[in-house]
Amino acid sequence: MFANAQLSDPLLPRPRLSIVVPCYNEEACLETLHRRLTEQARTAVGEDYEIVLVDDGSKDRTWPMMRALGETDPHVRALRLSRNHGHQLALSAGLDLCRGELILIIDADLQDPPELLGAMIARMEAEEADVVYGVRTQRLGETVAKRATAKLFYRLLAHLSDGVEIPLDTGDFRLMSRRALDVLQAMPERSRFIRGMVAWIGFKQVAIEYQRDERFAGETNYPFVKMIRLAVDALTGFSVAPLRLASYAGFAFSLLSLALIAYSLIGWLGGHTVPGWTSLMIVVLVLGSVQLFVLGLLGEYLGRLYHQAKGRPLYIVSEMAVHPGAMAPLPQ
Ligand code: UDP
Ligand code: MG
Repeated sequence: MFANAQLSDPLLPRPRLSIVVPCYNEEACLETLHRRLTEQARTAVGEDYEIVLVDDGSKDRTWPMMRALGETDPHVRALRLSRNHGHQLALSAGLDLCRGELILIIDADLQDPPELLGAMIARMEAEEADVVYGVRTQRLGETVAKRATAKLFYRLLAHLSDGVEIPLDTGDFRLMSRRALDVLQAMPERSRFIRGMVAWIGFKQVAIEYQRDERFAGETNYPFVKMIRLAVDALTGFSVAPLRLASYAGFAFSLLSLALIAYSLIGWLGGHTVPGWTSLMIVVLVLGSVQLFVLGLLGEYLGRLYHQAKGRPLYIVSEMAVHPGAMAPLPQ
């Protein structure tokens, strides 16, 4: 089965609420996640909800457990991707599949409290907003380095992003309206930084503050390298400021080289030309590394263009598990 935007069958009834959860190696969290989501969904909307679980090519028992949930609980639809496609694409697959009028995006590790759901819906209704996003006031159980880099990154991104106000300290934990999701789904970019894309959509978006808990169980699936990759996706996806930086650097170095040319000419005229190994080395090294850095920057944008141009599907679905009763089409 291939990825497509038609995963969500238009003939199926639309529940009031969809909860979409990307999961990678989350066997230790799944049961509690399912219980807490079910409780909160029931309190908020009664029986009119669905939970879309996406297994992003986990290597542990996540999929068998997820499939069992999908087959026994008519509210759960479980989807398995063909391999690990990464958090943002797994989330995109879940968003393609979900059918709700309201959509809650939440992590599987319960760092974002499902108990906030009621407040988020109330807030959305009271403010007639299309998006209610969670802002982390505190992050528990995360290393100082992670908190510091995340803080710095969100501020840098806010500063550089062209024309879009990407909220600070905000993950993907958010409640969205169907019309906001429809716009998001129409955006075909490969390097997806979903929290930024949602901000780009516009409409009324309001913040709700919460304290980010520790992971319920298991370990983070965002090691340093993945974090850097997400950060580069975000920066290149929302800003061409780095390219501009290259032109500024080029301009600054041109001025500097004019001064150096004048200096060396004067030296030559005065007959002092032999010393200068150190300055020569510095100039060669600085120029060489700045050029490589700028080439690398260009490469980042070019590589993304290349991937986008290939137009491959964003993700591949390998299996789906749903309760037999859950697939009944709308009564005519
Ligand atoms: N995740 C995923 N695919 C990946 C990595 C992570 O679907 O390749 C999911 C993961 O199961 C969790 C969410 O993305 O639901 C956030 O990941 P994690 O909690 O590890 O990140 P952190 O909160 O440490 O930044
Ligand atoms: Mg987490």
